[in-house]
Amino acid sequence: MQKGTIGVTTENIFPVIKKFLYSDHEIFLRELVSNAVDATQKIRTLSSFGEFKGQLGDLNVKVTVDKDAGTLTISDHGIGMTAEDIDKYINQIAFSGAEEFLEKYKDNANAIIGHFGLGFYSAFMVAKKVAINSLSYKDGAEAVRWECDGSPVYEMSKGDRTTRGTDIILYIDDDNKEFLEQSRIDTLLRKYCRFLPVPVISGKEQEWKEGKMVDTDRDKVINNTEPQWTKKPSELTDKDYLDFYHELYPGQEDPLFWIHLNVDYPFTLTGILYFPKIKNNFEITKNRIQLYCNQVFVTDSVEGVVPEFMMLLQGVIDSPDIPLNVSRSYLQSDSNVKKISSYITKKVASRLEDIFKADRAEFEKKWDDIKIFIEYGMLTDDKFRDAAMKFMLLKDTDNRYFTLDEYKTLVEAQQTDKDGNVVYLYTTDPVAQFNYIKAATDRGYDVLLMDGQLDNHFVGLLESKLDKTTFVRVDSDVIDNLIRKNDRKDVDLSALQRNILTTMFRSQTPEVDKAQFLVSFEALTDKSAPIVITQNEYMRRMKDMAALQPGMNFYGELPDSYNLVVNTEHPLIAKIRDAATSSIGDQVKPLADKIEADNAEITKVKDAAKGAALSAEDDQRVKDLEKAVGENRQNEETIISDYAKTQPIVKQLIDLALLGNGLLKGKDLSSFIDRSISLL
Ligand code: ADP
Repeated sequence: MQKGTIGVTTENIFPVIKKFLYSDHEIFLRELVSNAVDATQKIRTLSSFGEFKGQLGDLNVKVTVDKDAGTLTISDHGIGMTAEDIDKYINQIAFSGAEEFLEKYKDNANAIIGHFGLGFYSAFMVAKKVAINSLSYKDGAEAVRWECDGSPVYEMSKGDRTTRGTDIILYIDDDNKEFLEQSRIDTLLRKYCRFLPVPVISGKEQEWKEGKMVDTDRDKVINNTEPQWTKKPSELTDKDYLDFYHELYPGQEDPLFWIHLNVDYPFTLTGILYFPKIKNNFEITKNRIQLYCNQVFVTDSVEGVVPEFMMLLQGVIDSPDIPLNVSRSYLQSDSNVKKISSYITKKVASRLEDIFKADRAEFEKKWDDIKIFIEYGMLTDDKFRDAAMKFMLLKDTDNRYFTLDEYKTLVEAQQTDKDGNVVYLYTTDPVAQFNYIKAATDRGYDVLLMDGQLDNHFVGLLESKLDKTTFVRVDSDVIDNLIRKNDRKDVDLSALQRNILTTMFRSQTPEVDKAQFLVSFEALTDKSAPIVITQNEYMRRMKDMAALQPGMNFYGELPDSYNLVVNTEHPLIAKIRDAATSSIGDQVKPLADKIEADNAEITKVKDAAKGAALSAEDDQRVKDLEKAVGENRQNEETIISDYAKTQPIVKQLIDLALLGNGLLKGKDLSSFIDRSISLL
């Protein structure tokens, strides 16, 4: 019998392992089963090279729980180990600067274990004693038994294993009894070992018998040793891909489509990515891409490994080249990982382009569902954006789909403004903005549907990337102004008429919560509505963005700003104008003239001082004039608004316009109805 001290420079590594690796205890099983699988694959390889000439036999890995003995055993029929092997691979752990390293990575068990090849020693996270029973494949090898109780002292003696391979026996400690539950072990194996390339057996298949589940004598294999991503795409049917998707994500709807990844240079990577059908935001983060390393599950936190927008995708990525056992920040700065990420981006973009080219009809059919991926990708990844400009689609209110080029050709002739900008009109809500859409389409314009979750941002992106193109929401101005051509008519109003009409309409506009209205005049056609309500594109976008981004509260809290555009060409407005001018024109004119004269005088006095302080006398004069202006304004206002009250048609026209925008509510709505009846 050999006794010795494990070659760790740290006085006692095991308490450290236990203490620091606390949160990730369960990965010991992944480590031990992976070792068993590795040993199995090695014997296969040796056999295929003719270096091992014996029978391979049953190559399964077996995980056995013995509750009574308090042990968990992982057995394989791999290459096994001789006493020398154990000495070399298990006893001599080269360990320099261990304490420093442990301190640095104490929150990341993966980092420690991977970095030092401590896989086997992770057993001590859950075991008070570990034994190895092994028989090497080598000719004339003797069975060997190794035991260690968690101190750096081990014992090695003759073993009793009679078949090639290794048993790792864990004497589970009292704090970790959960690992003696078959169900807990099964759960862990399904998580980490579900796609390992060697069958892993854990317990027996069960069946119903006399009202309860009982063990049969059939072994329960917990893994699928040949997951689809390891096969050639040419060997797989659509059904295979769909079946695999449902194996990964039970209970989900069929995915929209998938991409099979397969690279061997400059790094090795395989995988299948699925585009799921996204019904609402909440599902997005739930079923994520899973990362594997040679079919061993590593993580489903793939931030930094795949491009951000691919967080919306599902599926599997398997690569031995991703340094999996390191912290995430390390992962994100790793150059291999960056290459992998940009490779995936390229591949996804080119696959989308292929589908687009090969089957446009099918692509259009799926567009509404995949739009969110593509927009998110274009917004967050420059390379993807450039690639996607070729195949992304715009959809209009007639449900027609266009590429960017096609759309430009479609609207260019009709929708270019006087400055040579092509104006793309869009709606975010075809029902609420119906009137505006109709006005635009009646004019021969086309209107895009931009009602997706990301469209607010996306419109801004397209605007910045497309040459001489602006996006304007259909309700952001009166139809004549949406696309400004040269043939605009000037508003034909005298200063007095403008003055009277402005106050009349303003005074009759109801108070609407969180909204503010500015009266303006436009000479539209006599066929256009007498009053049109529009919403400024810039302010509206700011508010929309504020709603999506915290920290932009300033815009978020501003009231919605609307323009109450009075169409001076409309006969009803002309009638109101003429009636008002003849009824109160004579009263208002002298007041307005006086206000104008006083204001001119104020300016004159101030100008004369040339920026210097006014003399006491001038100062008093300015104050008196300002007071007079204020009083006259007040009088003017009273005269006009008192008159406006006698003209129900003014309020009626405003209310009609508000009604068309869904802004007329509550008391104002019911008085509108009453007034309508009495006017009729
Ligand atoms: P790593 O697997 O990262 O090399 P481990 O501590 O898990 O580190 O294992 C150390 C070495 O011990 C392995 O490389 C292998 O040579 C040997 N070993 C571990 N488990 C087995 C096993 N079940 N069969 C044969 N060899 C094993």
